[in-house]
Amino acid sequence: MSTEEEWYSVLDVHPEASAEDVKAAYQNLLLALHPDKNLGRESAELHLVLQAWKVLGDPEERRRYDARRQQRQDQANVWKTVSLGEMSAAAEEEGHLHLDCRCGGAYLVQAEEVRRLSRLVIECDTCSLSLVVNNDDRVN
Ligand SMILES: [Zn+2]
Repeated sequence: MSTEEEWYSVLDVHPEASAEDVKAAYQNLLLALHPDKNLGRESAELHLVLQAWKVLGDPEERRRYDARRQQRQDQANVWKTVSLGEMSAAAEEEGHLHLDCRCGGAYLVQAEEVRRLSRLVIECDTCSLSLVVNNDDRVN
């Protein structure tokens, strides 16, 4: 299996963040991690950030990375596939949808986020399983 880094996490941006948002996040991290501010040391973290930017800062590279990432998610440990209608409104978190995992954990997602997508993969907050949600009601 590939062990490619989760570049979006490295830059702390959402996978669907705009190119401008990705750039802003990169620049902020670059400033914070710059060797001038770290006694001249180039940290491992800075190295990762630079690598992440090489991938996510280039539209073509980012597109290819997204495709690889999607493929990995598809091969991930999927517990089951449900339609959006099978999820219920989360009691504790307003604007979120939720479904109980078999482990006792929960799959939680922002309703707003789901509405824009036709399909998404959610990870359980407790175990390593994931849930595939098909949004059949999506309005194009
Ligand atoms: Zn679980």
